[in-house]
Amino acid sequence: MPDPRLPADLPERILKGERRALARAVTLVESTRADHRAQATKLLEALAGHGRQALRLGLSGTPGVGKSTFIEAFGMMLIEAGLRVAVLAVDPSSTRSGGSILGDKTRMESLSREKNAFIRPSPSLSHLGGVSRRTREAVALCEAADFDVILIETVGVGQSETMVAEMCDIFVLLLAPAGGDELQGVKRGIMEIADLILVNKADGDLKSTATRTCADYAGALRLMRKRANDPEGFPKALAVSAVEGDGLARAWDEMRALADWRKANGHWDKRRAEQARHWFEEEVQSGLLARLTSDPDTRARIRDLGAEVAAGTTSPDAAAAEVLAGLMPPD
Ligand code: GDP
Repeated sequence: MPDPRLPADLPERILKGERRALARAVTLVESTRADHRAQATKLLEALAGHGRQALRLGLSGTPGVGKSTFIEAFGMMLIEAGLRVAVLAVDPSSTRSGGSILGDKTRMESLSREKNAFIRPSPSLSHLGGVSRRTREAVALCEAADFDVILIETVGVGQSETMVAEMCDIFVLLLAPAGGDELQGVKRGIMEIADLILVNKADGDLKSTATRTCADYAGALRLMRKRANDPEGFPKALAVSAVEGDGLARAWDEMRALADWRKANGHWDKRRAEQARHWFEEEVQSGLLARLTSDPDTRARIRDLGAEVAAGTTSPDAAAAEVLAGLMPPD
């Protein structure tokens, strides 16, 4: 049953950039109800190919590093430059508290009052697969609604950074000023996916530590293998102060320079095409998994065969082959 509360002209309203329509659509893609899923798929299909390409910026950093402060200041700077900014939060850890720790709009008070900003807190979802799908779909909706920059924010827990890196054009890592030993604490993997490292809090007493930390990271980045889709000098490390606004314009210039270079050199479209293919394959896999767990006959079959495998009367691979054969139509 289609949701009767959804207006029939929802796609047109989204394309006109109406934030209320966008908010309803994001709520729809967050729903796991089968009828809502069907509606969401139809809506995304109707919007596919419309709107324009936004700059998808991933932003990661541990709690307390200054993400909200940065997004507030950086977002306001972009708004003042005439851009429309959407902020989506990815927080797989929020399930523990049953709510969203990134969800509080008061974190970005000025930004949330701007008509050219759209801030969407992270819903609590039980698994990363659900989080990634709803975020990807929310990105697509924001793009249809004509936003220029979509900031996808995540705390660095588990796989969420990789997941965000796989759905953005440019991935930014926000770090705090640190002593030499603490540099080791940043995982190599995350350094490898970062396009820009911003060492925040480069102000007051922390300024000199931040400058030193930034130089250390710049050195570490130079030691890493150069990536084919980067211009000379990237990935880069910069010192910024979200509170004082220092370095934010420079950070934006670097992001644009990187985006322009990738566009001019064919890397932009290639990356987006690869991402789309990746997500398609992931949808196929998660759809298959859902069929395994949602179909009562299959579940019963798995339970029965599991008992046989445990008793040693059937081998694990023969039992698995039998379950899989049941999922595929015969040739
Ligand atoms: P988040 O948890 O990553 O979203 O971090 P917040 O934005 O909430 O910031 C955590 C704390 O760091 C707050 O007390 C901020 O005021 C402070 N903070 C954030 N940015 C800066 C900065 O540029 N300089 C200084 N000195 N403090 C900052």
